[in-house]
Amino acid sequence: MDEFSLIKNYFAPLARDFPGSLGLRDDTALLDPRPGEQFIITKDAMCEGVHFIGDENPALIAQKLLRVNLSDLAAKGASPLCYFLAIMAPKNTKPEWFAEFTRGLAADQEQYCVALAGGDTTATHGSLALSLTMVGTLPKGTMLQRSGARPGDQVFVSGTLGDAALGLHIISSHSQGEDQGGGYNSLPKREREFLVERYLLPQPRLELGMALRGIATSCMDISDGLLQDMGHIGNASGVGATLHQEKLPLSSAARALLDKNSGYWEQVVGGGDDYELLFTAPAKHRDAIKQLSDSLGYSISLIGEITASKTVSLLDAKGNPVKVQQPGFQHFK
Ligand code: ADP
Ligand code: MG
Repeated sequence: MDEFSLIKNYFAPLARDFPGSLGLRDDTALLDPRPGEQFIITKDAMCEGVHFIGDENPALIAQKLLRVNLSDLAAKGASPLCYFLAIMAPKNTKPEWFAEFTRGLAADQEQYCVALAGGDTTATHGSLALSLTMVGTLPKGTMLQRSGARPGDQVFVSGTLGDAALGLHIISSHSQGEDQGGGYNSLPKREREFLVERYLLPQPRLELGMALRGIATSCMDISDGLLQDMGHIGNASGVGATLHQEKLPLSSAARALLDKNSGYWEQVVGGGDDYELLFTAPAKHRDAIKQLSDSLGYSISLIGEITASKTVSLLDAKGNPVKVQQPGFQHFK
């Protein structure tokens, strides 16, 4: 199927209800900001063999691509508007693959109220590569930034940590036919599936991000490991943080694994793909944040505090520093 048929058959239907897309029949999209609003724009790329394995259901690959970008909007307190998709697919990619991929996009467009507005489609001699540019909006001047944390602020995180990294560990050791002495084979199937799903399908915390406008002094989404990402807030704000290991929120599946093998702490504090929000706020907002957590249906945990010293430290229950080998994921390393 040629490029133009692909656009017409698979991508144009995803743009139909969004007038700014011009139906994908022009060179560009055309967007008007609403009065008093700003556009918030982010791009994330995903490559076969790095961000996904390649033999997943294409719908899941599509949803993960969309959701990691939505997570960036969540981190800034923005609401989704539209997105641009670049797809570089091997020449022999079947129409069925595009059908499944766009089915995943359609499902998430519905769930998150966002539409396709443009993109590019090319064949590649290499493996599948994808890039998505997401556009969101928010009232002018209200974007949550990484740079506003102040000494004395409390540090919070949504949801639970480490599940996705543990899920990836299960998928990859499983495909190599080994449990690496980690003991996850003795986890109930339901718990293993929970961890794997947390890796495959992130949950962007959009309502939380929007609710944090005017409350959080800094915010980001954790994509590359809690400690490394805490360091990003620290660097941007010119501060440090003390985090408490016993306060880190864990799912029952992650806790069960840690009970068997404490080496898994590495995944909890340094593993990627959490897509939870990490944010800081002055202590006076503690009650407001507690209420948010009650109304949103997932936990928001107080895990530490911002310090004037410019380092991030993780302490155990006795107040001793926890040694961590790998505080986060980095490409080119
Ligand atoms: P040009 O050659 O002028 O860059 P294209 O032929 O690549 O234009 O694209 C025509 C239209 O289709 C444009 O509006 C473009 O944004 C859209 N488009 C192409 N590929 C995609 C895609 N994968 N997803 C969404 N829109 C796409
Ligand atoms: Mg053109």
